[in-house]
Amino acid sequence: MSEYGSKSTLKIPELIVFGTNSIEDIGEHVKKYGKRAVLIYGGTSLVKSGNHGRIVDILKKTNIEVIEISGITHDPDDRTVKSIVDRVNSAGPDVIIGAGGGSVMDVAKAASIIATNGGEVKDYWAGKVFTRPSIPYIAVPTTSGTGTEVTKNAVISNTEKTYKKSIRSEHMIPDIALVDPSLTFSVPSDITSDTGLDALIQNLEGYTSKNSGPITDTLARKGIELAGKYLLRAVKNPDAHEAREGLALASLYGGITLFNAGLGLAHGLSHPIGIRFGIPHGKACAIVMAKVMEYNYPARGEKYTETGMLLSGEKDGIRAFNLLLEELGISTRLGDYGIKHEDIPAIVSESKGGSRNFNPVEHSDDTVAKILEELL
Ligand code: NAD
Repeated sequence: MSEYGSKSTLKIPELIVFGTNSIEDIGEHVKKYGKRAVLIYGGTSLVKSGNHGRIVDILKKTNIEVIEISGITHDPDDRTVKSIVDRVNSAGPDVIIGAGGGSVMDVAKAASIIATNGGEVKDYWAGKVFTRPSIPYIAVPTTSGTGTEVTKNAVISNTEKTYKKSIRSEHMIPDIALVDPSLTFSVPSDITSDTGLDALIQNLEGYTSKNSGPITDTLARKGIELAGKYLLRAVKNPDAHEAREGLALASLYGGITLFNAGLGLAHGLSHPIGIRFGIPHGKACAIVMAKVMEYNYPARGEKYTETGMLLSGEKDGIRAFNLLLEELGISTRLGDYGIKHEDIPAIVSESKGGSRNFNPVEHSDDTVAKILEELL
């Protein structure tokens, strides 16, 4: 069978809207569900960027009643979700809008589904199943990276912040993904770099995952090409709107790809590395990515060659990826982030399941430990 004959499926939200200034239509989208909206956001960055005022003004002009819930910080935990669910339930909205980075969008997604199904994040980690649809949910990304606006999972950490785990359900696919690159124009360089690497690596791991297929490959290839062309440009020149637009599209493609094709070992490792050592998600993926590529090379050599060509016209995909990290000033030595030999068993154990299941090459815990040792 050629690569075009392999199985590929595509699930996406009922509506994806992409385009600069597409936020202007948010009131019309909300009106489909009713007149009372809860707006969930982080805090200062949405207000400082002017995005908060912009969204609220549009909603008010469309006669939507807005109840605001803010204060969500990075790596949101189960307790935060519980408090947001309580506030959502007392507000009784027709629709929820989550406007922010992946942290905000995931909390809003989790709250939308738990509000109608009851229980707590812990119950769903333990296997409880969502049986009822969520409150209609509109996801509005303000960073270009996670793609969570189109996926069926929310990544939440435990209260002690020692691990991160997804809750997932088909009922959690946002009803509308509203991706307006202009909302990302204010993202500072360091966060553009961290989030943009997530976008790139979601496309890359989705492209080479065990479940990859022709539909997602098409999106992933374009996502890798866009990240190669625009990531560094957006980091070096935050006012380059074309670069921001290209990255936003790469992020959207990465989200669709990861949802439908799965990811791999780098994403599996990024959760314990990120939460235990306070490393932003995209950077945590980037630190281990090249070593994972070396390990997967026998199964995905051709796709890595294509990755290199798409990234920078370089046949060696691993080298192309490493050169990009070098230009972004990102070390791939775990020791530089305070990670020691004795931390490896916990990282390996907490990386199990999820993304690791989609890695193209089988791997034991011992193999993963060896990969990490080589990165110390
Ligand atoms: P984030 O949401 O934690 O945001 C990072 C920082 O960017 C924050 O300080 C925020 O205030 C700031 N910020 C956001 N928008 C801004 C703007 N427009 N201008 C200026 N500053 C802005 O980071 P993230 O990388 O977007 O999300 C990471 C989270 O998403 C992690 O918890 C990760 O596990 C999760 N994730 C989920 C999925 C999924 O499918 N559910 C996929 C990938 C990652």
